[in-house]
Amino acid sequence: MLLHLFKRPLLLFLLAHCLSVARWCHFGNFVADASVVLVATNATYQDRIAAFGPRLTDEGLFGYLVSIETIEDDNQKGCNKLKKKFANDSCIALVERGQCSFIDKVRNMQASGAIAVVVGDNEHNGLITMYATGESIRIWDTSDVKIPSVFVAQTEYRDLKSLLVVAKEPVEIQLLKDDLLQWPLLDVIIVVILSPTVMMIFIYVLWRIRQRQRRKQDIAPQQVVGNLPTKIFYRSKRQENDPQECVICLEDYVDEDELRIMPCKHEYHVKCIDSWLTTRQRFCPICKRDVCLPTEETPLLSVP
Ligand SMILES: [Zn+2]
Ligand SMILES: [Zn+2]
Repeated sequence: MLLHLFKRPLLLFLLAHCLSVARWCHFGNFVADASVVLVATNATYQDRIAAFGPRLTDEGLFGYLVSIETIEDDNQKGCNKLKKKFANDSCIALVERGQCSFIDKVRNMQASGAIAVVVGDNEHNGLITMYATGESIRIWDTSDVKIPSVFVAQTEYRDLKSLLVVAKEPVEIQLLKDDLLQWPLLDVIIVVILSPTVMMIFIYVLWRIRQRQRRKQDIAPQQVVGNLPTKIFYRSKRQENDPQECVICLEDYVDEDELRIMPCKHEYHVKCIDSWLTTRQRFCPICKRDVCLPTEETPLLSVP
């Protein structure tokens, strides 16, 4: 029953939920961003740590940024190992996105002696999370990746590259740790726990709204109830067949009680029947006649 009521919004919501999960999983938008800091000027460039490889420590990682392009111009995307390894063990490789998977780039640079990798996007301006994807069975096991890697968007990548071109001295950088939400695991927790919770709250709110609407249809408007005639009860004026008790509160009428006269001529205490009609049902408790239906005395449409 409940499911039937919410079938359409539920389906829509589930669809939106699946899309957002897919989006998070694919683009990793829920991972917080870290930064590349130029040691000399303290300038920072936003980046994002990869989903694989070791995490950065609190102190961050220091090293000299080296553009692969300047070493091997046919290998700017880092899809091959360097023919000649890096000269020292403080080089952070700057490679371009594309042609091969992120994990391949990082493995190649690790094999070439880099201590970390900065992957830059030369085509799009937006941060993504680098996941281990590829055809090889090795994608499931990334324990061999011992160096951290980060992703920078187009603007940052171009800035870093042009900086390397004009720099007369080696460019020392620091890879700073993400503040929070850095674990891809947290992505999963948010998607698995938070989203269903949001969905349940959404369904509950919708259910309450529907219930309220339905209840509104069941009761009589205050104005209609207020327009029903009343009279004052006097035992002396009572006729033989007149009821002597209110069937709602089951109390006998006493002199000067104010009674409401329904269109069906049934009578009740004003406070009893008003509360019945405006909070429970719009029908007479005895004969079930709807008080909102037009009567001969109060026609909704005047007959010409
Ligand atoms: Zn009563
Ligand atoms: Zn009645």
